[in-house]
Amino acid sequence: MKRRLVILGGGESGVGAAVLGSAKGFDVFLSDAGSIGADYAAALREHGVACEQGGHTEELILNADEVVKSPGIPDTAPIVQKLLAAGVPVISEIELAARYTNAKLICVTGSNGKTTTTSLIYHIMKSAGLSVGLGGNIGRSFARQVAAESFDYYVLELSSFQLDGMYRFKADVAVLLNITPDHLDRYGYKLENYARSKFRIAQNMDKNGCFIYCADDEVTMKYLAEANIRAQLLGFSQQQQLPQGACLNNNKFTAMYKNNSLEMLLDELSLKGKHNLYNSMAAAIAGQVLKIRKEHIRNSLMSFESIEHRLEPVLSVGGVLFINDSKATNINSTWYALESMATPTVWIVGGVDKGNDYSQLLELVRQKVKAIVCMGVDNRKIHEAFRGVVSDIVDTRSAEEAVKAAYKLSQKGDAVLLSPACASFDLFQNYEDRGAQFKRAIRYL
Ligand code: ADP
Repeated sequence: MKRRLVILGGGESGVGAAVLGSAKGFDVFLSDAGSIGADYAAALREHGVACEQGGHTEELILNADEVVKSPGIPDTAPIVQKLLAAGVPVISEIELAARYTNAKLICVTGSNGKTTTTSLIYHIMKSAGLSVGLGGNIGRSFARQVAAESFDYYVLELSSFQLDGMYRFKADVAVLLNITPDHLDRYGYKLENYARSKFRIAQNMDKNGCFIYCADDEVTMKYLAEANIRAQLLGFSQQQQLPQGACLNNNKFTAMYKNNSLEMLLDELSLKGKHNLYNSMAAAIAGQVLKIRKEHIRNSLMSFESIEHRLEPVLSVGGVLFINDSKATNINSTWYALESMATPTVWIVGGVDKGNDYSQLLELVRQKVKAIVCMGVDNRKIHEAFRGVVSDIVDTRSAEEAVKAAYKLSQKGDAVLLSPACASFDLFQNYEDRGAQFKRAIRYL
């Protein structure tokens, strides 16, 4: 009899898992408590996958041999609780897909910088002519690609929710960028649980694997020892010298793997800011480990174009440069955005705050910010935090209003930075919508 594979959630990862499961001969059923988008519904029909939406029918789910849960569904969801109580294995799409490929897997996780670093590594590998796919939390799902393609390598962006459903998965190269409090609501409000989840990226690795980590990150360092990692450890740092991995030397960084050393002038890096220097260092080490020629690594780090919504320079209007960092949804990423600003800045901030402590930004705001434009429904905390530090703080309720107000408060040579430090759903559908509306408003100035 066919094994029954039930998929919870009908988005990119769920539909990818369903397509792969049906190609591998499972009896597949997909269930989504909300609605399934038209394109996804069509893909399921095309592959003959049975599905339901608008609720979960227990009789069709609890009889599964195995369940793939989409990362957005928490373990506390009643249907997941029932499955766990019944002893049905619940895994992530990444775990399923990895069973069906022999490709080498380069995996990236962290609280911030995942998409940037994953894309950088992909760019390096692609420019070097390797057969490589890009997936995970980014673009097309890993499972869907495994069903249809035969790449030699995959670069995968992995969130902690995906890692939670991974048990036997083995990365060949793993990158852990940083660990700062995020999504703690899904981790019993304990940083420890969240950190352990991030370290799952290295589980099952052996001494042939490489684990690349940030030696300046306190939380990473705290849990590194207890993680018992068998892979080769390669750190990167802007504060200390390291014999292997990457570190700073005046105006350049050196990435060292075994006897192979690569040097890169900081001025030549296409991505600016301290945070992106970390991302570039991590990507350079990964390139070295993969034995990619130094010229390819260097050229790729020079030619990489910034990704939409991440410190993306949009347009100069009347000598004022507008920068879209809509993806900055927490304090840490906004800290790095402000840190990277080299000209007086009008800062657009606000939205739905996940428990922000704005005092961490006070020093940078004092140094870099000439005016604040709040863009959110409730801006009280921002006023309270910065009242004594910045004299101009105005309230706005749309991207259009915010852009107009910011332009008025700026002069030639300034920058306007949208780096909200908050989620977007009080005024926008998501961070992409927020960034897109911001860019549109600039073009109408
Ligand atoms: P993720 O995929 O982890 O959300 P992104 O690459 O999309 O990360 O970047 C999200 C935001 O985090 C960006 O707005 C950027 O300013 C900031 N950021 C990028 N890299 C880092 C890093 N290494 N450390 C801290 N913040 C970062």
